[in-house]
Amino acid sequence: MELLAPAGDLNKLKYAVYYGADAVYAAGHDFGLRAKSTNFSRTNLKEAVDFCHQYDRKLYITVNIFAHNSDLEQLPEYLTFLQEISVDAIIISDPGVFALAREFAPNVAIHISTQANVTSWSAVDFWYKLGAKRIILARELGINEITEIKIKVPGIELETFVHGAMCMSYSGRCLISAFLNNRSANRGLCTQPCRWEYNLIEKSRPGEFFKIEEDERGSYFFNSKDLNLIKRIPQLLEAGVDSIKIEGRMKSLYYVAAVTRAYRTAIDAGTNIVSSSIQEELNKVSHRYYSEAFFDKFDSTDTQYYGSSAYIREYQFLGEVQKVEGTSVFISIKAKFCVGEEIEFIFPDNKDDLRIKVELIFNEENEHIQLTKPNTIIRLDLDKKLPEWGIVRKKIIEE
Ligand code: SF4
Repeated sequence: MELLAPAGDLNKLKYAVYYGADAVYAAGHDFGLRAKSTNFSRTNLKEAVDFCHQYDRKLYITVNIFAHNSDLEQLPEYLTFLQEISVDAIIISDPGVFALAREFAPNVAIHISTQANVTSWSAVDFWYKLGAKRIILARELGINEITEIKIKVPGIELETFVHGAMCMSYSGRCLISAFLNNRSANRGLCTQPCRWEYNLIEKSRPGEFFKIEEDERGSYFFNSKDLNLIKRIPQLLEAGVDSIKIEGRMKSLYYVAAVTRAYRTAIDAGTNIVSSSIQEELNKVSHRYYSEAFFDKFDSTDTQYYGSSAYIREYQFLGEVQKVEGTSVFISIKAKFCVGEEIEFIFPDNKDDLRIKVELIFNEENEHIQLTKPNTIIRLDLDKKLPEWGIVRKKIIEE
């Protein structure tokens, strides 16, 4: 079973690979669905493919907007470009884009996006007969339905989401952002109004907000919990799922690395129960309340959290190890920490993880400093040489 991780930029893509992804998905500047993500320039896309292939990994590119006529002019040239740089698959939702991809990138595999809402074996068979290589199943399917689809259409690859944010509607059918903000989720511009706090206004009293309370904390009635299926990997393996996918092209490098590593460990454990320490790792990245959503039953009531849409943050991402020289590590700082604090290094192999109390910090001028500053490089001198590709974090201590 393939582990597929998200990458919002080239650096995140590299960390996804170092931390255990078999394949990575990303978007160019156009036609993907995360317009606010940094995304990849054409030069970056070429570099990303070459990097993945060098490590024997795959790169899939999203072209999963629902296209309007005006998009069609540029698409053939872009699809031809994706074939020329040898991407491993194009992720598509729209039948019109599918037809163009068959014509202008005939040698590239097509994966049908979750945006296309494939929810039955008949729909899977439909795309299979048209030439799709893989279906990214709708997130609303449970394990029994996935198992049945695999039995009925064994020739096609099935991919399913296992981790990350969920939409309150079927992916690809949400119109709230387009309606409220004129920014369509189906064109990569979602402003996430499902996460907003809503009040009630009586028609003749404009400006007077009446609080709606699901409970004493307020009401976020559209707010979905995050998906977390780490405990269900053995069942997904048994069902014959070909690829499991982590959501999050907008998430940090730390998030991508830590979540990818946890699922790598779970896949490598095969059908053995996933250890609690691995499950615990997923609590150390910022997340909303977790749920297994529709995995067991479609009418699950454990999918929404009405009290708040805020993230739960137990750990803070402090920086990435830029270079290791002997027992010194140079860290590119993203958030502050100071002398006396405990920090943790994580690495692609969990066994290398290290927790230390910071004693001395050196800045780029080799001077002692007490506190690090974001967007600087600092040096720590340790007792042992660290492996490469470390990420630094600290536990958030509530005052
Ligand atoms: S508004 Fe929320 S539910 Fe709708 S597409 Fe955006 S994230 Fe998904």
